[in-house]
Amino acid sequence: MQIDQRIIDELSGLAPEAVREDEPMAKHTSFGLGGPVDVFVEPADAGAFRDVAAFLADEGVPTMILGRGTNVLVRSGGVEGAVLCSTNAFTEIARTEEGLEAGSGVALSKVLTLCSEEGLTGLEGLAGIPGSVGGAVKTNAGSFGDTIGDRLAEVVTFQPGKNSVVIPAEEIPVEYRRTILPEGAVVSLVRLRLDEAPPEDVERRRQETLEKKWRSQPTGMRSAGCIFRNPPGGSAGRMIDELGLKGTRVGGAVVSDLHAGFILNDRGGTADEVEELISIVRSRVLEETGIELVLEIEVVGRRAH
Ligand SMILES: Cc1cc2nc3c(=O)[nH]c(=O)nc-3n(C[C@H](O)[C@H](O)[C@H](O)COP(=O)(O)OP(=O)(O)OC[C@H]3O[C@@H](n4cnc5c(N)ncnc54)[C@H](O)[C@@H]3O)c2cc1C
Repeated sequence: MQIDQRIIDELSGLAPEAVREDEPMAKHTSFGLGGPVDVFVEPADAGAFRDVAAFLADEGVPTMILGRGTNVLVRSGGVEGAVLCSTNAFTEIARTEEGLEAGSGVALSKVLTLCSEEGLTGLEGLAGIPGSVGGAVKTNAGSFGDTIGDRLAEVVTFQPGKNSVVIPAEEIPVEYRRTILPEGAVVSLVRLRLDEAPPEDVERRRQETLEKKWRSQPTGMRSAGCIFRNPPGGSAGRMIDELGLKGTRVGGAVVSDLHAGFILNDRGGTADEVEELISIVRSRVLEETGIELVLEIEVVGRRAH
């Protein structure tokens, strides 16, 4: 797919000052890794986002929707086509009768703050997860027993160029770290069903979660959180730890000493090094336990040639 000047000009007209050619994805992922995408667009509002999404679809440009880039590993050869980022476009957040509603680009931390202020309980376990609401819904983010999928009331989505569709939670299958939405659907708004509780209790539980994570996870480091899904009935991190793999390193990528489920990019690593480390860990776990670990993160893009 060739992104020519006409496409760039059209995009710049639809989303002024929001279009960057050959943009390094390393700037937009929590791993701090990834080669350039042909065109990165970060529209400033919902209207511009929808116009850009419709235009890209019409032109047949392969397009990846990005939230805060905290669950992806982008390869060094970069991404073909367009990356369309939601974080400036869908930013509304409000209390509702049954809980709250938030645009897909809103940071989860902001949702947690509003929950504490309004006395809304059910998501405290998600404190510290650095993603956006859209990314959290897509990946059914969760921790310490809470998942966003359990709290969905409705999800508003659209297909590029089409009108919005409101999907009730009852029609949305949620699985471990995966929510099944119609193929190609972009999440714009999420309505959550939450319970009421004294604000100070909600805030205390949120703080407790954060403290537990500060003690047990390498927060503030370059990573994408847990690399592998937990196998049924087990913990991927614990298995990796028990095999003595903490500290295993390939170049700038290392298995965290604090939480063996995390791989860190702590010395200016590359996506290739992270992938090589992933494969070493997987092989060791398979050899020793017979269990094939499945990735929790999404690996996208081309390998460097
Ligand atoms: C330090 C750290 C800790 C973490 N801890 C946890 C944890 O405890 N539990 C957990 O579940 N995860 C955890 N994660 C992973 C990650 O933060 C979550 O999966 C998060 O919800 C992803 O949100 P995002 O906006 O970054 O999504 P992205 O990485 O930007 O995207 C993830 C997927 O969602 C899709 N997507 C994003 N926005 C939309 C949209 N609007 N419409 C349609 N599709 C969309 C993308 O195309 C992609 O397929 C952690 C990550 C880090 C770095």
